[in-house]
Amino acid sequence: MSSVTANRLKKGMLIKMGNDLLRVFDTHHLTQGNKRAHMQAKMRDIRTGRIVDHKFRAEDDVERAHLEEHEMQFLYKDGDQYHFMNTETYEQIHLTPEELGDAVGYLLPETKINVEFYEEKPMGVNLPVTVDLKVTETVPGIKPAIDNRYSDEEIVSHSSMKIASTNVRTSRELLERVKPETEVVGIDEGQFFDVELPAVCNTLADLGKRVIVAGLDQDYLGKPFEPMPQLLAIAEYITKTLAICMVCGGPANHTQRLVQSSERVLVGASGAYEARCRKCFDPTLAG
Ligand SMILES: [Zn+2]
Repeated sequence: MSSVTANRLKKGMLIKMGNDLLRVFDTHHLTQGNKRAHMQAKMRDIRTGRIVDHKFRAEDDVERAHLEEHEMQFLYKDGDQYHFMNTETYEQIHLTPEELGDAVGYLLPETKINVEFYEEKPMGVNLPVTVDLKVTETVPGIKPAIDNRYSDEEIVSHSSMKIASTNVRTSRELLERVKPETEVVGIDEGQFFDVELPAVCNTLADLGKRVIVAGLDQDYLGKPFEPMPQLLAIAEYITKTLAICMVCGGPANHTQRLVQSSERVLVGASGAYEARCRKCFDPTLAG
């Protein structure tokens, strides 16, 4: 077991408190007058997602935890069990949908994922940085040409996960790019598209295709970001995901612009925006 003095805790460290495994995502040194120095740390329980805010005495020893990462190849699904093989030891294990989380939607036979283990138990799953080409043949991702933050030929998430994509300038162009044999159409950054996107999605859905649109529902002022509200209204299923507030660690449903600009569309990578909760969001900051 290794440990670290609390005043040396850093963002990204994994620590063990009792039976909890906590990932530090924010730290704050507290020194008030003659009082003892403390370290305030915001952490996330890697198993439950729960946010833990804890004040350590600066000189406290904190137990560090280390995860072992293994590359696992997806073999097959049997009921609720997903069977994988360790690509180094050929040992086979199975994971549950809960353990796989979002990765469930990306699994094709032979997909390789990285699984983190703590004392032999799976703790988390990291998808490969590049998704196998097979995915791109059946799921052409489409994104508006304005969004070239990371790559012109791929949809790239802030966490560097990639999938091949086609850039389009208008919703109409999107319609032309979808092949007759295409079954699933993935559209990223829906809020950057024009007002015709809902009609185009309806047309594709009426042709029997599965249409999945991801996008921000609100702009930097917290106002509905067209055409997302119209898409929300016509969608069969909606998954609203919340980020984690970068100020308080609470569930964040707002995008805080950190630079001054009153342009509605200001494409920026990390730095220009951060996730904020209702309480910490301040639209006047950008004005
Ligand atoms: Zn907050």
